[in-house]
Amino acid sequence: MIRISQPTVPESAHAVVLQLLKDGQLAQGKFVQQFEESFARAHNSRHGIAVTNGTHALLLALQSMRLDPGAEVLTTPFTFAATANAILEAGLTVSFCDIDLDTFLISPNSISNQLTDKTQAVLPVHLYGQMSDMKAIVNTATQHGIGVLEDAAQAHGASRDGISPGQLSRATFSFYATKNMASGEGGMILVNEDDEAQTLRLLRNQGMRGRYEYETVGMNYRLTELQAALLLPQLDSLSDITRQRNRNANLLSEGLKDCEGIITPVIVPDSTHAFHQYTIRIDAGAPLSRNGLQKTLAEKEIESVVYYPQPLNKLPHLLSHPNVRLGSTPNAFVAAESVLSLPVHPGLNESHIDQIISAIKSMY
Ligand SMILES: *Cc1c(COP(=O)(O)O)cnc(C)c1O
Repeated sequence: MIRISQPTVPESAHAVVLQLLKDGQLAQGKFVQQFEESFARAHNSRHGIAVTNGTHALLLALQSMRLDPGAEVLTTPFTFAATANAILEAGLTVSFCDIDLDTFLISPNSISNQLTDKTQAVLPVHLYGQMSDMKAIVNTATQHGIGVLEDAAQAHGASRDGISPGQLSRATFSFYATKNMASGEGGMILVNEDDEAQTLRLLRNQGMRGRYEYETVGMNYRLTELQAALLLPQLDSLSDITRQRNRNANLLSEGLKDCEGIITPVIVPDSTHAFHQYTIRIDAGAPLSRNGLQKTLAEKEIESVVYYPQPLNKLPHLLSHPNVRLGSTPNAFVAAESVLSLPVHPGLNESHIDQIISAIKSMY
């Protein structure tokens, strides 16, 4: 079976984890700190704050931005539910903007259209590992005096116009089992302001600066040494991982380029796509529907997944939610109906890629 994802913990982590177990060093400590520093440096940010998971990372980052209760946060409905859940959990209002259909990323035009006097932040999602247009978005945000938070849960090591996630604002990452860097669960917040980093460290650790030195109300959102030990070697190989994902993506796009009705992913110029997912669109010109294509692939032992079958502004429990503004998002609706993600992870070799291409071509 060719799976859609395959977590890979480098061998070099095994001995380190065993040693930590022997030494009894389990809670947040020096590995976490080393990982925070290295991860921030690798993404051209000043501070890294490691936390329990990517959803908590979003929640804490929103809390540290000190927006007014109920303030509107602009985001895309074509994302994982965590993005909107964190906004709502922080006591804010979600306001949905549309995406550009070729990249699946939040449309800078739609951001301008959806702004109101209640808008206090914009939260672009670097979906599938491709960065949103942060230069344009930060420009608009600065003009209107609103904050920016980037959901980079899928975009470890990505860049666009020479800029990394979080470099122009602040960003959050996830280390969930299926992400490009994985420790089962885990998250990271990158910020550039010293006082914001300080606030986040307090919020993560019961409001304590040192042991029993309480400054504010906080919670426990700490990462563990074991998780950091799994992640450190993955950070060292992040550029290799990204290169392998891009190699697989290029082979797939080359192999599928003459398949009518299949639209392969667009890589924006001057960017590094992290290819967390390789996502095609199936349009009316294809010989089979998306369902039919998925079935054909499954028969040949190839897993494919729809990320995401429903835009968040179609979820029944959000339709009538008092803190949700649904917006007008025709492109997001089309994307949800037509996308399909194919395996692209670094565990695949050229023969696996050929199998995927042949399976799709066999329909023609
Ligand atoms: C995975 C993911 C999250 C949430 O991360 P967790 O670590 O699972 O909490 C948030 N946003 C996006 C876009 C994601 O893909």
